[in-house]
Amino acid sequence: MLHPPLDQQPIDPAYPFRSESPLSREERKARFLGALKGILELDLYDRPLKMYLDTCARCNNCAGQCPVFQATGDVHDLPAWRSDLLRRVYRRYFTPSGRLLGRLVGAKKLTAGDIDAMVEAFYRCTMCRRCAVHCPLAVDNALITRIGRVLLAEIGFVPKNITVSVAAQLAKGGNTSSIPPAAFIDTLDFLEEELVDETGINIPIPRDVEGAEYFFAAPVSDYIMEADTLMGIARVFHAAGASWTVGTENYDAINYGLFYSDDKLEEILNRLLAEVRRLKCGTLVIGECGHATKAALLFHKVFGRSEYRDIRIESILQVTRRFLAEGKISFAASKDQGSVTYHDPCNLGRGLGLYEEPRELLAAAGIEVVEMQPNREMNLCCGGGGGLVVAPDLHDWRMSVGGLLKAEQLRATGAKTVVAPCANCKKQLRELVQHHNIDMEVAGLHDLVGRALTREEKA
Ligand code: SF4
Ligand code: SF4
Repeated sequence: MLHPPLDQQPIDPAYPFRSESPLSREERKARFLGALKGILELDLYDRPLKMYLDTCARCNNCAGQCPVFQATGDVHDLPAWRSDLLRRVYRRYFTPSGRLLGRLVGAKKLTAGDIDAMVEAFYRCTMCRRCAVHCPLAVDNALITRIGRVLLAEIGFVPKNITVSVAAQLAKGGNTSSIPPAAFIDTLDFLEEELVDETGINIPIPRDVEGAEYFFAAPVSDYIMEADTLMGIARVFHAAGASWTVGTENYDAINYGLFYSDDKLEEILNRLLAEVRRLKCGTLVIGECGHATKAALLFHKVFGRSEYRDIRIESILQVTRRFLAEGKISFAASKDQGSVTYHDPCNLGRGLGLYEEPRELLAAAGIEVVEMQPNREMNLCCGGGGGLVVAPDLHDWRMSVGGLLKAEQLRATGAKTVVAPCANCKKQLRELVQHHNIDMEVAGLHDLVGRALTREEKA
C-alpha cells in the first residue's frame, strides 16, 4: 500500500479534536524544530525515539493491527504514515544523510501544512500500542504519536477538553472533576452509608490517616460515576485488614500529562506524591484507571522528585491479587453473575503487563470469563484511549471509528457484562454498547470482586 504524499491535506479539516495555536505559521516551524532538538537530546527519549524514527520497513504490518485504520481504510490513518509526518522532518534536520540527500532518503523540510496535518493525525491515534506488537522492527508508533503531541503542545496545539481538565487539576486544591473537598468528604460519607446498606457492617473509608500503609487514589471521576468500584475496593481493604487511607488535599489519580506533556505529567505526579508524603504512607495505590496507573508506575522513577523515590507504587489489581495470594481475602461460593467478559485496558495490558491478575481474581471469585477474541496483548482498544474519551465532540468518531471493532468484539462474546478496570474504558464502553444496541452491562473489576468477598467482619 502506497503512502499518500505527506503535504496532502489531512482527512477531515473539521475533525472535532483539532486545536488552534496562537503562534504565527512561521513561528510554529521554528519552535517545533527547537522542541524536537531538545527532545532528541534527552536521555529518556534519545535511544528509543531515534531507533523508531530511524527504522521503518514500510511493510504496513501495523495497518492490519490498527483499529482506526481498519475502521476507515483511509491511508491517512496508516500508523506508519502518521509516524512519517515526524520521521521525515527528523531525517531532514537531524541526520547527516537527510541533510545531504533530502527526499532521496525520505527526508522533508517542515512546512506549516505538515504541522496542520499533525494536529489532526496525532489525535486520531488512541495510543493503544497494538500496532507495536506486530511490527517486525518493534517500532512503537504510539510513542511517536506521544512525542508528536508533546511537540505540538510546545507550539500551542492541545485540544481544549484536555487543557481544561489539566488546568482544573492544577488549580489550588483542584481535580479534573472539580469536586470541592467538602463534596468529596460528603461522597465518602455517602459511600460508607451505602456499604452499611449493602453489607450490614461498618466498612470505613479512612481519610487523612497518617502513617497508613496504603494511600489510595482513584481517578476522581469514580466518585461521581463508579460508586460500585470504590465500594468494592473499600471492601477488599477492609476484608484484608489493611491499613489504608485516602487524602483530602489531593484525591485525583488522573494524569492527562501522559497524553501530551512531560511537564504536566511531572507536576501532576509530584503533587500526588506530595500528598502521599504528607500522610507518611509507604505505598501509593492507584485505583481502576489504566492511564493513571501507567503514568505513576512507569514515570515515578523518571519524573518523581528524589525525595519521593522511596514511595512504592502499585495498581489496585496487584494489591488485591496479593491479598488473595496471602490468604487475606477469600471469596464465597459464586452467586450467578451471568456471562462475563473481560476487557484488557491498553495501559494496564500492553502498557504494564497486567493480564493475569484480574483474571485470577475473577476466577477465584467463581466468575467464569468468556474471553474476547483476540485478548490480552492483542485485545482491541476501547476506542477512547489517548485522552480521546474526554471529548464529547468526538463521540461520533469514537463510536463509528475508534470503537467500531471493539463494538463488534463485545457483541461476539454474547456476554451480559463486560468488566473493565479502567475509568476511561468504562465510559467509552458504556457509550459504545448504547450506541450499537448491545445488551451488555459495563462494570469495574472490584464491583464484582467486592460482592463476592467473605470475611468482611475483619478489622
Ligand atoms: S509494521 Fe513497523 S516496520 Fe512495518 S510499516 Fe509499520 S511501523 Fe514500519
Ligand atoms: S497506537 Fe493504536 S491507534 Fe495508534 S496507530 Fe497504533 S494501533 Fe493505531
